[in-house]
Amino acid sequence: MGEHPVVSKTGKALSAEDIAANFEDLHPPLNAEQVSVEASRCLFCHDAPCVAACPTSIDIPKFIRQIATGNLAGSARTILSANIMGGTCARACPTEILCEQKCVLNTGEHDPIEIGALQRHAVDHQIAKGGPHPFARAPKTGKSIAVIGAGPAGLTCAHALAVQGHTVEIFEARQKPGGLNEYGLAAYKMAEDFAAREVDFILKVGGITLHYNQALGRDIAFADLQTRFDAVFMGIGLGRPRKLGLAGENLGGVMDALQFIEDIRQADDPAQMDPGENVVVIGGGNTAIDAAIQAKRLGARSVTLVYRRGPTQMGATQWEQDLAAINGVTMMHWAKPERLIGEDVVHTVHFERTCLQDGNLVGTGDHFTLLADRVYTAIGQELYDQGLASLRCESGKIMVDEAGHTSLPGVFAGGDCIASGEDLTVQAVEDGKVAAAGIHTYLGEQNG
Ligand SMILES: Cc1cc2nc3c(=O)[nH]c(=O)nc-3n(C[C@H](O)[C@H](O)[C@H](O)COP(=O)(O)OP(=O)(O)OC[C@H]3O[C@@H](n4cnc5c(N)ncnc54)[C@H](O)[C@@H]3O)c2cc1C
Ligand code: SF4
Repeated sequence: MGEHPVVSKTGKALSAEDIAANFEDLHPPLNAEQVSVEASRCLFCHDAPCVAACPTSIDIPKFIRQIATGNLAGSARTILSANIMGGTCARACPTEILCEQKCVLNTGEHDPIEIGALQRHAVDHQIAKGGPHPFARAPKTGKSIAVIGAGPAGLTCAHALAVQGHTVEIFEARQKPGGLNEYGLAAYKMAEDFAAREVDFILKVGGITLHYNQALGRDIAFADLQTRFDAVFMGIGLGRPRKLGLAGENLGGVMDALQFIEDIRQADDPAQMDPGENVVVIGGGNTAIDAAIQAKRLGARSVTLVYRRGPTQMGATQWEQDLAAINGVTMMHWAKPERLIGEDVVHTVHFERTCLQDGNLVGTGDHFTLLADRVYTAIGQELYDQGLASLRCESGKIMVDEAGHTSLPGVFAGGDCIASGEDLTVQAVEDGKVAAAGIHTYLGEQNG
């Protein structure tokens, strides 16, 4: 079904088959012939700009050359040595603003190399074939590290530390590992059980124990971790969705968009979910777009995404905005919600149009309403700071130096909970890598 799903324009329910097809892989894997054609287009640039545009600096020309010469295992190793979550990133990276945007073939006349799709081909082959883990562990160092959170940052950090010979214990608040790879990425980007299979692959390196249902601040105390372990890594993401702070927010039918996306990801059969008939999504980032598209793909009759600023200020990329339009989502810009109206369940949302005045966003005094039996709010997440002891935070993020070291000795952090760049999976992986190197150096200094 890809980028063009079956959508309901009349309110007539979609069939279970239509919905199942709507949630298949957005970009199915390339076949052998497509891989061969795509790999042979690469110019193998020296000082390739695509490498500089990848936050994890994967040696892209090298891994594509390895594919072209039939060395798939070598290609996967090249990718995974820079990015152990190369499988998820191949599916989820906004390549149109990262590696593929900088491809020298991306001239308008030619399409860029499909770097993400080639990366997926090599990594999926490695994970599917099983066998020994491609990275051997160094001899045991006797040092142990606590990692808080089994999302992309925590898992990457744990893997890199385990490879160095350290012993790692991960404490994860939820019942499953993977963080937003498991609960947040859109179902059509992370089809089937890839998130879980990737975690199994990562843990196969050995030396990592994962404890579930163990939340820092609820089940474990920061001071205990500092006593029991030689170092601590915090990869807790941004756990608390922001509230609108408006009247009617607690009505039935009003829901955090991330919860809606999570419900779809965790559903045995998404076709059993009721997406609502008239859906309004409030927000302008990834989460808003993903919730709007998935509501449409579940069969909602009308889905309107309302954002308080213009299209160029949206957190979602142009490609994602185009995808929403292709999926039948109506986009409305320059409007902010004022209140939500209903008896027990929401039926109308009141908005005021907005504009910029001397650089500030202000209401214009023009108002309008939208009918809605479902409202998904997606105005961002913030740091859930329970149990963070005296860690220095600024603007809702944990402060770290260039090695990922926080204000407390031996405590490192990475991923969405720090201010390192875009909140993307690939950035969380890079942060986990940087912090693992920082922890390794720190532990060496403690010995000396
Ligand atoms: C809806 C949505 C869609 C997205 N789509 C994309 C996309 O298409 N492409 C892309 O690149 N990025 C996307 N992102 C961003 C990407 O998912 C994040 O940048 C990435 O997951 C951050 O990784 P992390 O490890 O820092 O945090 P998380 O993935 O949030 O993982 C944090 C982990 O820590 C655990 N935890 C939290 N608090 C505690 C505690 N107190 N004790 C123990 N454990 C705790 C959590 O349960 C979780 O498992 C999306 C984000 C959202 C919300
Ligand atoms: S990790 Fe993402 S940005 Fe880096 S090369 Fe792969 S697809 Fe591109």
